[in-house]
Amino acid sequence: MKEIYEGFGISSKVYDYAVNIEEKLKNRFNDIDKVAEINQLKVIKAMQDNKVSAECFGQSSGYGYDDFGRDTLEKVYADVFKTESALVRPQITCGTHALALALMSNLRPGDELYSPAGKPYDTLEEVIGIRPSKGSLAEYGITYRQTDLLPDGSFDYENIAKSINKKTKLITIQRSKGYQTRPSFTVEKIGELINFVKKIKPEVIVMVDNCYGEFVQLKEPSEKGADMIVGSLIKNPGGGLAPIGGYICGTKECVENAAYRLTSPGLGKEVGASLGVMRSFYQGLFLSPVVTASALKGAILAANIYENLGFSVVPGGSEKRADIIQAVTFGTREGVEAFCRGIQAAAPVDGHVVPEPWDMPGYDSKVIMAAGAFVQGSSIELSADGPIAPPYAVYFQGGLTYPHAKLGIMMSLQKIIESGVAKL
Ligand SMILES: *Cc1c(COP(=O)(O)O)cnc(C)c1O
Repeated sequence: MKEIYEGFGISSKVYDYAVNIEEKLKNRFNDIDKVAEINQLKVIKAMQDNKVSAECFGQSSGYGYDDFGRDTLEKVYADVFKTESALVRPQITCGTHALALALMSNLRPGDELYSPAGKPYDTLEEVIGIRPSKGSLAEYGITYRQTDLLPDGSFDYENIAKSINKKTKLITIQRSKGYQTRPSFTVEKIGELINFVKKIKPEVIVMVDNCYGEFVQLKEPSEKGADMIVGSLIKNPGGGLAPIGGYICGTKECVENAAYRLTSPGLGKEVGASLGVMRSFYQGLFLSPVVTASALKGAILAANIYENLGFSVVPGGSEKRADIIQAVTFGTREGVEAFCRGIQAAAPVDGHVVPEPWDMPGYDSKVIMAAGAFVQGSSIELSADGPIAPPYAVYFQGGLTYPHAKLGIMMSLQKIIESGVAKL
């Protein structure tokens, strides 16, 4: 085995270091497999209950009226996530688009959007208008308010209670940390927050940005009171096979609003050709629980290796997981770049290229990204990225298979050692 890894340039010392740590993680990996098993059964059950058949994989074009595969898939998603309705479309171009759509369709001029759990994901700053941007919610007269987390990462309930007012229409909660070093929230924690805000204002709409959280736990935020959960199909629920797409699952009312905004008033869910992507959507959802488990095991291996080397990692090596993202703070630009070079060097696609920091649309600092993906930008595939700005943290995620994630982590460690950022 060691020789095979040596063929990738991994030294005997790096191999031994990583494998020693991996050995100690067997029990955790077992627990993850159990969650994957239950979620796998949940997906199969939803497919069987909705009588998924080969007919669902056909392709429609033009208006896409009566697209049976598309309509059935939306029922499957609604069943898996235990919601009244779902919108799952290739016309939703990415996660940001899905979130923007959910917000813009459910808010009206004069309403206020409220984030009780701190700053939202970078790209949403432009959607909301925190950073002025064409077409933002701010341009339409929708105001925004936020309450930061307390220094220990918990919810500031006292100030949350004070911030909810008569204009508050929609509350957004982001499950995953995104590009922050705060903890990601478990479904249980999100449930507590939802209970709290709904006690103050029962009619408020709660949206959860579910990116990277799907199938990590046995339940989803929609089972704990969220009116909408929103995510990207080139993350967990696409299982690595969906080539594009996003979803909004939630109450009939919220999803209907989103559908009328995605297409047009009067048309809603009735149009939107599936253009031949349906089989990959179904098969990707089918694989997703096990793919998510592979990514989780990779994240845990990385957390334990870098924690052991003395770097700050979020979540910690033995902490409960709420999403598939692993943050490692190197504190230096060299650390972030070496780590990303290692992930790239383990890729099945573009393994020969060297990633460089660049000005990525939607982000306000340079970002370095390592991705050798079959689907461009897919972050359920093994990938790492980090803004070139303090605290110089890298965000690592994905891995369609655990062996690939393991190779990537070993390569990253090799590059970190070679560049002198750490010593074994
Ligand atoms: C990825 C992500 C988004 C945005 O998704 P894109 O597909 O990159 O537009 C939003 N929120 C969170 C928490 C994410 O991880």
